[in-house]
Amino acid sequence: MRREIIPSLLEIQELVLQLRDYEKRLKNLESEFENYINDNLKLINEKEEELKKIIDNFKLVKDQQKEKEDKVVIYREKLSQEEKRSLTLKNPKEVMHVEKEIENLKKQINNLEDEILNLMIQSEEIDSKKKDVTLELQKLREEFENKKKILEEEINSLKEEIMNLANDISEKRSKIPEEDLIEFDNLLKSKNGRAIARVINKEICEGCRLSIPKAVLEKVKKGDIVNCPNCGRILWLE
Ligand SMILES: [Zn+2]
Repeated sequence: MRREIIPSLLEIQELVLQLRDYEKRLKNLESEFENYINDNLKLINEKEEELKKIIDNFKLVKDQQKEKEDKVVIYREKLSQEEKRSLTLKNPKEVMHVEKEIENLKKQINNLEDEILNLMIQSEEIDSKKKDVTLELQKLREEFENKKKILEEEINSLKEEIMNLANDISEKRSKIPEEDLIEFDNLLKSKNGRAIARVINKEICEGCRLSIPKAVLEKVKKGDIVNCPNCGRILWLE
């Protein structure tokens, strides 16, 4: 391996490390995205169910109200007939009977009207609840679509960066001789992504953080290709 290509290999190494980091971020982001979608679809679903129940209940109350209103109409008609009839009657027994009937009808109409009023109050309450839940559902859906879009954009831009990085790496690799690449790749694999280690603080191997023996350091300074006696990485001094 020639000394001149080490800076290029070092560059590739940094890019590969960056690529790994981006790929890890992408994986996390994708799983965050999936969880977000699942959790929120569930929430929206529950809200939709709640709204459906409210609408069903509203319809039920309205039907009951209608039924009672129809009954009132019928009873009123009956009442008016009975009242007319009472005027034509002579027999006191019959008069008494009709009057009793009239009183009974009035009482029933009164009861029905009370019930209708209650149902109207009830339906107003349900209607207001329906409006609240509709708004909540709308807000949930909007928030969901917005956050989903943001996460999708983040994922797409990260994918684009990964693609660019990968292109950059393969372009740089194409300029390195085959046998050097093989050596480099083998070292990368066995040394957890760091084949080349800078000499830092004048005598420390950046890879294993240990002092480099003086004799080895002298060779590095001379420009020889030397591996760290401790971790085996290629040492590099600028
Ligand atoms: Zn080392």
